[in-house]
Amino acid sequence: MNPQEVLPICIAGEWRLGTGDRYGTRYPATGEVVAELNAASLADVEEAVQGAHHAFLTSGWAQRKPHERAAVLYRVAELIRAQAEPLAQRQRLDNGKPISETRALVASAAGTFQFFAAACETLEETITPQRGDCLTMSVYEPMGVVAAITPWNSPIASEAQKMAPALAAGNAVVVKPAEVTPLMALELARICEEAGVPRGLISVLPGKGSVIGDAITKHPLVRRVSFTGGTTTGKHIAHIAADKMMPVSLELGGKSPTMVFDDADLDHAVNGVLYGIFSSSGESCIAGSRLFVARSQYEAFIDRLAHGAAQLRVGDPADERTQMGPLITDRHRDSIESYVAAGVDEGGQLRTGGVRPDVAGLPNGYFYTPTIIEGLDNHARICQEEIFGPVLVAIPFDDEDDLIEQANDSVYALAAGIWTRDYKRAWRVARAVQAGNVWINTYKQFSIATPFGGWRDSGLGREKGRLGILQYMEQKSVYWGLNEQPLPWANH
Ligand code: NAD
Repeated sequence: MNPQEVLPICIAGEWRLGTGDRYGTRYPATGEVVAELNAASLADVEEAVQGAHHAFLTSGWAQRKPHERAAVLYRVAELIRAQAEPLAQRQRLDNGKPISETRALVASAAGTFQFFAAACETLEETITPQRGDCLTMSVYEPMGVVAAITPWNSPIASEAQKMAPALAAGNAVVVKPAEVTPLMALELARICEEAGVPRGLISVLPGKGSVIGDAITKHPLVRRVSFTGGTTTGKHIAHIAADKMMPVSLELGGKSPTMVFDDADLDHAVNGVLYGIFSSSGESCIAGSRLFVARSQYEAFIDRLAHGAAQLRVGDPADERTQMGPLITDRHRDSIESYVAAGVDEGGQLRTGGVRPDVAGLPNGYFYTPTIIEGLDNHARICQEEIFGPVLVAIPFDDEDDLIEQANDSVYALAAGIWTRDYKRAWRVARAVQAGNVWINTYKQFSIATPFGGWRDSGLGREKGRLGILQYMEQKSVYWGLNEQPLPWANH
């Protein structure tokens, strides 16, 4: 990538410089600028949304047969796979995740397009039971212009999860990637066009969320917003949506409990807990950031965990062996440090971590060590607020009822992990814990075929799953009169 070159953005199929402010995106491992671009301006938003509306009405995409749209989306999946390595390397530069992770995200984006192509060509509309002289049907229509607003932590996968079903459903899509990670959304738009998605149907508008994201959300022609990001932003979007009577899906924050019972396979549990909180440097909505361990096992388990955390390889994202890369920005690292300090102020003790490590050759990277804090109860600020970094709070528990009460004592309800060999208990706890996603004897596993979403402050609606495509469609009931005689009422 040539940092001297200013990247064009995609405004209703026109690839040109944005007319907003110029800024550079930085590689979090070095702090160096990897690409410069001009953000979108409000005028660009207007042009993109009007252009998307025009393309929706005139391109014929919505009128294509489902298998024809699907063929284009299968091609998107193939093109992503054909350039998987350069995409994964670019994503590494975009947000600093280790290369092993960005490869997985690219593969998942291809799988998402493949899955929603299949969902599109197999979606059935129904003839409903007849109760009069009418043939009655339930069919689905695209919505028009929909918006996809994404965060910085898993670009390409987040964007694919919204773009693929939205396009499969026949819509035009305006994508607003996080300001600091615009590169993969631009790549995906380029690939979609190359695969045959009509020009104008996709726009990618990097820029500040409070300006560009807000303007997209408020635009009268935008008929749905699919948002992934923080809870405060999600609530703001929900207010705007209420005023517009616009459906939204909101994938928001979490503070997910992981529960280790005394009969758990502790080897599996140690590995699972480490992966659940420290992979992606903890910058994951479903990070298992609150750990509850049966008191009888607590000391031994935390010892093993702290030892395991200290062994994790924090370092160069380009190195295939790296397990934790840098955090997204210096500012985000400051915020994580201030949470750790708040935990210590409230009486917590650092069991491991809590420092900026020296990483050879990368003195300016935004690195932070895996951190475990204990000695706090579930009401402490760092047990309640989302930190979105590699910080685990560990709490012992005495019995199952008390555990469930504590696990559910959070405004968030996104995910939960259960480690036990007792299958009856696993089922009982999985049903009692309030969370959109529960993992039993595993953690942070995903399937595009399985719906994903949160309860309460963790969100509204579901993404993924075969029926995920319906989020981007309006349902319509059709009554087709079969009467031989005129309707009787008017007697005319
Ligand atoms: P954020 O809410 O600050 O930003 C997310 C996106 O919204 C960005 O594109 C941003 O520019 C845009 N935005 C910001 N203000 C806006 C506004 N007023 N109107 C419209 N758009 C606006 O979140 P972030 O810091 O980028 O991401 C981290 C958060 O995302 C964490 O809370 C994390 O838990 C959450 N997240 C949730 C999921 C999930 O699936 N539940 C997945 C990943 C991340």
